[in-house]
Amino acid sequence: MSRRLRILVVEDEEAIRTGLIDVLVFHGYDVDSADTGPLGLDKALTGKFDLVLLDIMLPGMDGYEICNRIRAEDRNQPIIMLTAKTSDEEIVQGLKLGADDYVPKPFSIQQLVLRIEAVLRRSQAGQQQARTLNIGDVEVDTENLSGTNGAEDITFTKREIEVLGYLAQNSERPVSREELLSKVWGYARGLDIETRTVDIHIAKLRRKIEVDPREPVRLITVRGAGYRLVTGN
Ligand code: CA
Repeated sequence: MSRRLRILVVEDEEAIRTGLIDVLVFHGYDVDSADTGPLGLDKALTGKFDLVLLDIMLPGMDGYEICNRIRAEDRNQPIIMLTAKTSDEEIVQGLKLGADDYVPKPFSIQQLVLRIEAVLRRSQAGQQQARTLNIGDVEVDTENLSGTNGAEDITFTKREIEVLGYLAQNSERPVSREELLSKVWGYARGLDIETRTVDIHIAKLRRKIEVDPREPVRLITVRGAGYRLVTGN
């Protein structure tokens, strides 16, 4: 893997935050940070991070709430909670909200880096499995940007594969155009960006993966909510 993995550090204590940033940069990660809850949530939702390191006690919004809100939009976002709270109940609460791991403070840097590597390994392995996407009779090779629709060979652009991949990861629910613009295109939320960009890509994808693009059954429109990929047969 040549791409540098991106980590978001959400921590209000400056000494810990800068310490974490230094260590993570030293280990070869790309690091961004936030020192309040709302800023952390905003960055987590609009940036594309391989991992979010999330403190619990934060000004503005606590780590549980942030974790919850991230999960509501992206159940695959790897999250490690950092906290000084050590009662079992609080650990369970953190994990119930879907944190992938929990590291109590004070932590040894070495211990933390090992836990980070473990979580990243698991999520990267999960992404590898998604190399082949099956959408009904359509098989998509996401690495080679190619696929087959029955007997027909198809090719995709990188962006089309990213859109399909994101929809496939969230196939149990519709995904809004705004979310696609933020998560796939990387545009900040609230910017006045033409959502037609998304529609054009969806139309192109339908011509490739549907039997009849005018009557989509695989990449469907959910009125008022967005698009949903139907991955079953
Ligand atoms: Ca704190």
